[in-house]
Order: sequence, then C-alpha cells, then structure tokens
Amino acid sequence: MCRHVGYLGPPIPLSTVLFDASHSLLRQSWAPKDMRRGGTINADGFGVAWYPPGGEAPVRYRSDRPLWTDADLPGLARATTAGAFVAAVRSATVGMPVTGTAAAPFTDGRFLFSHNGLVAGWPDSAVPLAARLPTRDLLTLDALTDSALLWALVRHRLREGAEPAKAVLDTVVDVTAAAPGSRLNLLLCDGGTLVATTLGHALSVRAGTGAVLVASEPLDDDPAWQPVPDARLVVATPSTVDTYELGLP
Ligand code: GLN
Repeated sequence: MCRHVGYLGPPIPLSTVLFDASHSLLRQSWAPKDMRRGGTINADGFGVAWYPPGGEAPVRYRSDRPLWTDADLPGLARATTAGAFVAAVRSATVGMPVTGTAAAPFTDGRFLFSHNGLVAGWPDSAVPLAARLPTRDLLTLDALTDSALLWALVRHRLREGAEPAKAVLDTVVDVTAAAPGSRLNLLLCDGGTLVATTLGHALSVRAGTGAVLVASEPLDDDPAWQPVPDARLVVATPSTVDTYELGLP
C-alpha cells in the first residue's frame, strides 16, 4: 500500500533515495518488503517534490505510471540536489482512480503531504468529514481518492492556523472516529520538519549526522534504521526525532 519517504538534512541528489540506495524507492515500487494487509507492488504512479535553494515553494514531478518506466527521471534526479524532499510510489486502493493527480506528494504553499493506507468504508464513512470542508476545497480536490480528501482535511486545519503536528494528529483522530479501521500512515513536510503517523502500516526512521529520513521501509541495511511502532506520531527535524503515542481511544 504505497511507500513514501521524506528527507531533511544537507542537500543530496534526489537519486540517492529514488534510485541509488540498495532498497531505493524504485526497488520498493516493484519489490517492497513490508506491504501489510494488501497490495503487492506500487505501480500506479509516483511523485517527488523538493525545496529548491532560496526558500522558494517546492517543485513537484508526478505521474500515473510506474516509477521504473520513466526514462528521464534518473537523470533529472541525479542533477537535482535538495536538503528537503518527499517522494512516494502508489498502489491504488481498489475502486480508486489511477491518475497522476492521485499520486503523492500533494502540495500547498510550503507543505508536502503523502498518505499510505485507506479510509475504511470509503466513500460513505467520509461524508461527514467532507461536509465540514469549504465547498471550494471539495471542488478542487486533486483526485477523487481518500488520500486527496485526507490532504484537504489536513490543509484546512493548517489554513486555520494549526501547527503541522496538531493538524495531522487531529485529522487522524477525526478520521478514526468517523471511519474506524482506517489505515492512516500520513507524512507532512513544511521544509524544516517532517510529521508522520503510523496506523496500520510500516514506517522506519534513520537519524544522525545532521540528517533524518522517514520511510515506509528502510532504504538500506544500515543498522541506524529504527522501526516506528504502530499508532505513533513522529516529529522529526535534521537534529531531533520525537515520537508520541497517537492516544486513540
Ligand atoms: N488509498 C490511497 C490511494 O488509493 C493510498 C493507497 C496506498 O496506500 N496504497 O491512493
């Protein structure tokens, strides 16, 4: 069920994570190791978004095709260096459209967002959640998928002034109440902090030497990778990683 990864630290080529690591996102697209509860490969699209130097808004590249079919991205990724980025490969949930705009990361201003999992009982369970959003947000969803709605819910809280960790946590609490059994591994980045949750799917963190990686699966066999237990909220910067219990009922 989708794989995602976020990086913060000294600038590195995007290819390090996308293609070069022994268990790179490319490898995780066709040979993931820890797909829990459904899905075998992640061939329904991919995306990567990074923060260019100079504090400009993130740049994004995404597609509805398998990552391994893009002949040009390896070169682009080798030539593109960033100190903060998020990338994902998608395995579409049954019944959801396969389109480039359904691939993470979703973006708004400085924010990047990804979701690994599903909203249980979609779409009926999500009706009360969607009803709380401004109509315009519903009319401009990236795609008619649970992940795009989750992003609209998180973004709405951010626009109302919530801190990133609080926006993510409150969204998980709301969605879990409306749609019990949902699998909600969320990942949010503002360029300086990564906020991630575990609820139903795998996640690991590698910290140290002034950089941090948060990924669905470790990108290599470095023993510094730490698995994150289920039902946790992770708040990571290049120098700090804090993990909290989600505290769901
Ligand atoms: N449900 C989401 C989608 O279809 C995410 C799928 C996943 O995590 N595999 O896009």
